[in-house]
Amino acid sequence: MSNRAEDPNFVTVEESPLGEITLDPRIVKLTTRSGVEVKRTLPHRRLRTIGAWCFVDHFGPTDQLNAMSVAAHPHTGLQTVSWLFSGEVEHRDSLGSVQVIVPGELNLMTSGTGVAHSELSINQNTQLHGVQLWTVLPDPDRNCDPTFNHYNNLPVFEWQSISVRVFIGELLGQRSPAKIFSPLIGAELHLPANTQAHFPVDPDYEYGVLVVEGEANVDQKPVGEGQLHYVPQGRQHIAWSSKNGAKLILLGGKPFTEKIIMWWNFIGRSHDEIVKMREDWQSQSPKFPAFEDHIGGRIPAPNLPNLRLTPRGNLM
Ligand code: MN
Repeated sequence: MSNRAEDPNFVTVEESPLGEITLDPRIVKLTTRSGVEVKRTLPHRRLRTIGAWCFVDHFGPTDQLNAMSVAAHPHTGLQTVSWLFSGEVEHRDSLGSVQVIVPGELNLMTSGTGVAHSELSINQNTQLHGVQLWTVLPDPDRNCDPTFNHYNNLPVFEWQSISVRVFIGELLGQRSPAKIFSPLIGAELHLPANTQAHFPVDPDYEYGVLVVEGEANVDQKPVGEGQLHYVPQGRQHIAWSSKNGAKLILLGGKPFTEKIIMWWNFIGRSHDEIVKMREDWQSQSPKFPAFEDHIGGRIPAPNLPNLRLTPRGNLM
């Protein structure tokens, strides 16, 4: 992934509170081996994080043939949250995990000091449609041992005819069992046609509403498929309406205040840490044990930019 520090055209702006804003995705080709293009809304040139959510990729719906074939690659300092609306993806990792994820279930990988994984879509009879999200691990937890968990027992309920599935954190009194490290929410919501709702939210949280299907109005502003609408802290409700129905992902959390460096698949706090993480991956250090999969190979890290990476805060 790109990094601000690599971009010579980047102009630094004064950090000031960001108001409510609709963010457009940018199209990113996932890997040279994979046909799938993703719509990336975080990190965005206006905003780096929503709570500890730091990465939002939306892919599909797309035909399944080789839709996702991402060879072994490493992660540090973060959790990966994999969530599907249709299709099936097989996850394998350097802890020995082999887990197929299907819609409505959660794959949660906590990288801690380091883990490697690969992802392969496997059922060619359905389209692939889903999101891949990352959360930043807070400093006291980021050097934990890596773990992988699969959850198929998540809360599902209806609120005023909106169907809600909570995969991370707690919403409307219903809590996901998934292990997280900071105050966060992640949920899938289905708005039926002619929805008009004042959805209660936590004023301590900032929120992002990603429309993955259909179109909705969030606080009276139209948000189209693929867009992420940001709502700052301090709100008691978010108003949503949809004429023809919509499928949304609601993300939120207490604003993440640590300065971080996100470079490629790593999150660290200093340039030297990132250099070491990269070297560990390139040298096939025991931190990233090899594992078998049906893809083969491993994705090499890109070259570091010719300057020192600088930790940055929430706003770009
Ligand atoms: Mn990954």
